[in-house]
Amino acid sequence: MSVKVAVVTGSNKGIGLAIVRALCKQFQGDVYLTSRDVGRGEEAVKSLSSEGLSPKFHQLDINDLSSITAAAAFFKEKYGGVDILINNAAIAFKAADKTPFAVQAEVTLKTNFFATRDMLTHFLPLIKAGGRVVNVSSFVGARTLNNCSPALQQRFRSEDITEEELVGLMQRFVAKTKKGERKDDGWPETAYGVSKTGLTTLSMIQARRLSKERPNDGILLNACCPGWVRTDMAGDKAPKSPDEGAITPVYLALLPPGTTEPHGKFVSDKEVQTW
Ligand code: NAP
Repeated sequence: MSVKVAVVTGSNKGIGLAIVRALCKQFQGDVYLTSRDVGRGEEAVKSLSSEGLSPKFHQLDINDLSSITAAAAFFKEKYGGVDILINNAAIAFKAADKTPFAVQAEVTLKTNFFATRDMLTHFLPLIKAGGRVVNVSSFVGARTLNNCSPALQQRFRSEDITEEELVGLMQRFVAKTKKGERKDDGWPETAYGVSKTGLTTLSMIQARRLSKERPNDGILLNACCPGWVRTDMAGDKAPKSPDEGAITPVYLALLPPGTTEPHGKFVSDKEVQTW
């Protein structure tokens, strides 16, 4: 039987690193720690090696399309595809950051929504039958949804929203923010929140598409929230450790063969949340 493989983006530190640690212990196959920076990635591999674990490494910068396509080609060639993909990489400006909000909007959506979508565009065709895809989103995305205008909320929650329409909405958030028309257009003032509303909605759209286009492949794709976790992103006051933050993403990644749900859901503390 061919060797199974799991890939985790942005896993040189924080929750991503903890996900790799947990998968190394629980997943029967090769686990790839990936990082945009080779030096930081290799350091992280070394730190897990000192715990007696053996992750493999591949460079992967989700903001760089050539890095995504090179990694996709590598996994296709070496493993014939991918069994588990966890899209964990993301950025967040600190609350105190003085960067103009319009710049924050563009930069944040670029990584958290558009680059993660690029990953899905190039990796979804590689996901093997029985595969699991987990998009690490956030409770902030759910809260942000509730703070959007009723018209926007209706679109994000609708079953008939297409990927193209969603991409248009994400572009509109950035454009309206730049023009100073964000509020009148129904958007709250949180770039990170909107990026995660978009990622969760994208997960639901793509799960519906997988069910339609590959009905017999048993692939499960979900978005999740790791909880509030002590990392460089969230600071040291958060209640959960990175290992605790990894629990829900890893649970979704390791849903046993034959499981049919959750699929296309937003999951927190291993429970499906209303959207
Ligand atoms: P973190 O400690 O800041 O780690 C983020 C990781 O993403 C780092 O490895 C970073 O790499 C990587 N990354 C950023 N941009 C990248 C790119 N273009 N290509 C590849 N990797 C990239 O954050 P975290 O708290 O562990 O967050 C992990 C995930 O959980 C994120 O999706 C976040 O939104 C989500 N989340 C976190 C919390 C929380 O409380 N911490 C709550 C809800 C959701 P570098 O080291 O190179 O920067």
